[in-house]
Amino acid sequence: MILEGRILRGRSFEPVEGRVIVEEGEIAGIEETETDSEGIILPAFVNAHTHIGDSIAKEAGEGLSLAELVAPPDGLKHRLLDAAERSELIAGMEQSISYMESAGTAVFVEFREGGVDGVTAIREALSGHDIDSVVLGRETEDAMLESDGFGASGANDATFDRLRKATAEAEKLFGIHAGEVDSSDINPALDLDPDFLVHMTHPEPLHLERLADSQIPVVACPRSNITTNVGMPPIRELLDRTTVGLGTDNVFLNSPSMFREMAFTAKLFDVSTREVLQMATINGAEIAGLNCGLVEDGRDGALLVLDGESANLTGAEDIARAVVRRAGVDDVERVVYPADSR
Ligand SMILES: [Zn+2]
Repeated sequence: MILEGRILRGRSFEPVEGRVIVEEGEIAGIEETETDSEGIILPAFVNAHTHIGDSIAKEAGEGLSLAELVAPPDGLKHRLLDAAERSELIAGMEQSISYMESAGTAVFVEFREGGVDGVTAIREALSGHDIDSVVLGRETEDAMLESDGFGASGANDATFDRLRKATAEAEKLFGIHAGEVDSSDINPALDLDPDFLVHMTHPEPLHLERLADSQIPVVACPRSNITTNVGMPPIRELLDRTTVGLGTDNVFLNSPSMFREMAFTAKLFDVSTREVLQMATINGAEIAGLNCGLVEDGRDGALLVLDGESANLTGAEDIARAVVRRAGVDDVERVVYPADSR
């Protein structure tokens, strides 16, 4: 498979004109040469934090607090999920999976509610789709064993020492929410030595120091944080200390579009175009231990081609900046998954 156009190559995302050759699911070569194509080629996105189980309840709960919306067991989200039929939940997740594919997502990292049943349900929703997933089970050790790891609620909700140990023994990923509403659960979350933290909206200087020392990565979800009115994560301070990925969080709060998350992040924080693209691609891949997220030799052939001549993108002076701040689902010409070149 050969893709032609302007390539946002490597970790710098500096555009070069040329061809990307994809073979057997991998990028096998990048040639700089003149082409006739106005396509923009970049790595497909890594959405580093989702909950797609609540796809059945989009935009529910206007005016409710974070606790009223999502706190287990009686938050609105949990009541809606409990009331729904299994088939309805799977159909809703399947729609979100299709949408993420059309929006250029290579892989999403899901915190999946509902124990083993929840994991089985998302596997059903994923069947027949090319998008890759990292599904982290919740609530029970069995859910962790059935899935790719464990996604913990927060260190104030329960004691996770035993599950942390079991997840490490199973050589799987352990992620945990921390610092979303206030800083009280950050130290106990860091004490678990997790593979990554989610949110970190409210770190104090001591926590930032601990991040720098431990290099534990963070997944920031700024659109979620503004929707639930908990404050904004200090993304500049986080990026200066550790790896930061981007996630769209609950589907009922925000559409799982990394285009929207990138534009929001680029415009609201003191971050460069290159940093935002890294957050949306390679940083998420590194957090989840994946080989996608960059256009370079040997990486997974998970790529996104945008139409550089679309009404929205044509005339862009700075292609990478246009991708981050302006591009959207309508500009997607093609999404390539590793399976497409096998
Ligand atoms: Zn979450």
